[in-house]
Amino acid sequence: MATTTSSSDDQILTNALRDLISANHILHHHGVVDAYGHVSIRHPLDPTMYIMCGYMAPAMVSSPTDLIHYHVSDSSPIDPHAPKGYSERFIHGELFKRFGSVNCVIHSHAEEVLPYVVSMGVPLKAVYHMSGFLGSKGVKVFDIAPLYRQGEQQDMLVNNSRFGAALAEKFGAEQPEETVVLMRRHGFTVVGRDIVTAVYRGIYTRINAEAQTKAMSIARSGMGDGEEAQGEGFQALTPEQAVGCSAMNEAFHDKPWRLWVREVERLPLYENQLSESSNRA
Ligand SMILES: [Zn+2]
Repeated sequence: MATTTSSSDDQILTNALRDLISANHILHHHGVVDAYGHVSIRHPLDPTMYIMCGYMAPAMVSSPTDLIHYHVSDSSPIDPHAPKGYSERFIHGELFKRFGSVNCVIHSHAEEVLPYVVSMGVPLKAVYHMSGFLGSKGVKVFDIAPLYRQGEQQDMLVNNSRFGAALAEKFGAEQPEETVVLMRRHGFTVVGRDIVTAVYRGIYTRINAEAQTKAMSIARSGMGDGEEAQGEGFQALTPEQAVGCSAMNEAFHDKPWRLWVREVERLPLYENQLSESSNRA
């Protein structure tokens, strides 16, 4: 009996690690991460741990030995001899600590989102039906600047639990009220109840930002005429539309995920030693 449980637990963990390796590749292929940026999952069998790759570009992750297990409590590695990890793992650890319902975290500096973290007073909003999760009010912006103490290196990195906890607080109190938080002069962070939801949100945050920027530049170019050409150049989803689109998106996440996994499995840059096609080879 114990053996059966153990082998099914092994399978659950293997599947989670396989998906985490794929998520690293998918986020790279879709321009959400480059050599920087990271994705983590909560351990599927032990909620006091989370898992993310060590100090390497996400596209290069290929095997479970590239992954490091951390304590949620303080983001220290489970194995004291683990290789070097990301200095910004505190983003992940503090979000897992604050919200028991969060099981995947993604951090990105995607260039399409940068205008909304470096400009003042231009909020990122859901501008079309694929990004209802962004909401209609404008995505919140976390600013690390006021947190710096005398003598600290002001490199904008969320590289300790104090900064990570402050970022996590921006997502909400008891439950995450935000799906995405922008980080001033830095990038953004996404949460999800599972890896499919978080990856979907990471990709469509980037696409939504690009669409909003293009709409605003068309408006500014004066190419349009009539009343519709006035104002910001776009109409964000209404609150009701954002809620409706978000529910619709969550019902259909599985379809793009299967495509995204297949894409990266077929591209020679990416290697996933746990993927089914790799095991068949
Ligand atoms: Zn960063």
